[in-house]
Amino acid sequence: MKTLFIGHTRVEIDAASARTTLHDGKQIPAVPHDTDDYRATAERLGYGSETGRMCVEHELLHTALAYWLGLYESPVMRAVAEDDGPVGGITSLEEAAVMAVQAYAVAVGVNLTRRLAEVSDCTSAARN
Ligand SMILES: [Zn+2]
Repeated sequence: MKTLFIGHTRVEIDAASARTTLHDGKQIPAVPHDTDDYRATAERLGYGSETGRMCVEHELLHTALAYWLGLYESPVMRAVAEDDGPVGGITSLEEAAVMAVQAYAVAVGVNLTRRLAEVSDCTSAARN
C-alpha cells in the first residue's frame, strides 16, 4: 500500500485498489468492477485487460485533476462521499475529463501511478 497526498486529499493505492480520504475523513474505496461494461471501458481507454491499473489511475486522477485546477477537492469524490449522485453536469464533465486524460496517458506510454507518485507528496507511511 502506497499513500499519496495530493492537496487536501489522501489516496492510498495498491496494484488494483484505491481508497481516497477527503479532508474531513470521509472515505471512498474503489476496486475494479467485475462487469462487461468495466472491461469494455478498460479496453477503450487502452488498458486492455488491466482493469486494476485503470481503477487505481482513475481514482488518483480525480484528485490530481481537481488539485491541478485549484479546486479544494474532487467534486465527484465529494458527491460519492455524500451519496449525492450527480451534481448538475459537473460530475459528468469530471468523469469525461478523467477518462480522456487516462486514454491520453496510456497512448503516450505514461504510467500515471508512477508519475503522480513522483509529483505528489508521497510516502508509504500514514500521515494526519
Ligand atoms: Zn470516476
